[in-house]
Amino acid sequence: MSASSTPGRLTVITGPSGVGKGTLVARLLQRHPRIWLSVSATTRAPRSGEQEGRSYFFLSRDVFEAQVAAGGLLEWAEFAGNFYGTPRSPVEQHLAQGQPVLLEIELEGARQVRRSFPAAYQVFIEPPSFEELQRRIRGRGTDSEEAIVRRLERARVELQAAPEFDARLVNGDLDEALGRLELLMGFA
Ligand code: ADP
Ligand code: 5GP
Repeated sequence: MSASSTPGRLTVITGPSGVGKGTLVARLLQRHPRIWLSVSATTRAPRSGEQEGRSYFFLSRDVFEAQVAAGGLLEWAEFAGNFYGTPRSPVEQHLAQGQPVLLEIELEGARQVRRSFPAAYQVFIEPPSFEELQRRIRGRGTDSEEAIVRRLERARVELQAAPEFDARLVNGDLDEALGRLELLMGFA
């Protein structure tokens, strides 16, 4: 078990789309409000209920590319036809203030962070089975069939990367997974 809750610790949560990362992170933040969750930039269109600056910063491709060129993103990747990236300076500011910082990002971004922040603690969330992952991503009801197919294809590749991570966590029962995540992060 890791003593990873030292102030200013950077934790990265990754896993295939639909595995429950957002659900787990929202519950974790409710229970531990001092964790600061990075708000990513994306070129994806907002889903119903998503708010600018809270869910994401929703950018055009041109603006996103300008941010990349200016070095404003800590990491970025293309996922299922859209760009996603982590604004650099808020992460650095919160770490400098000694706050625990959380990134919820896909695999390629996690690999970039592994290179730039080798001390970051990286957790990979796994589904109990691929069938359950399909059920969840369809059950969420937020994506078109085309987007679901792309995400499931990508999920098969991402799942093979689980052994690269500091910790692997199966999100079967939500409460149990949350408890294990808290333990891994040193918050329990
Ligand atoms: P991600 O952020 O990884 O794409 P979400 O958090 O949006 O995934 O979860 C995808 C769907 O699965 C949502 O409908 C969510 O309510 C559901 N879900 C999340 N965790 C669990 C769980 N442990 N058991 C059953 N359903 C879950
Ligand atoms: P969604 O479109 O479902 O919100 O997110 C799709 C994928 O992009 C998820 O796996 C999510 O973790 C990932 N993601 C969200 N923000 C970022 C980011 O800033 N960088 C990277 N690399 N991936 C991100």
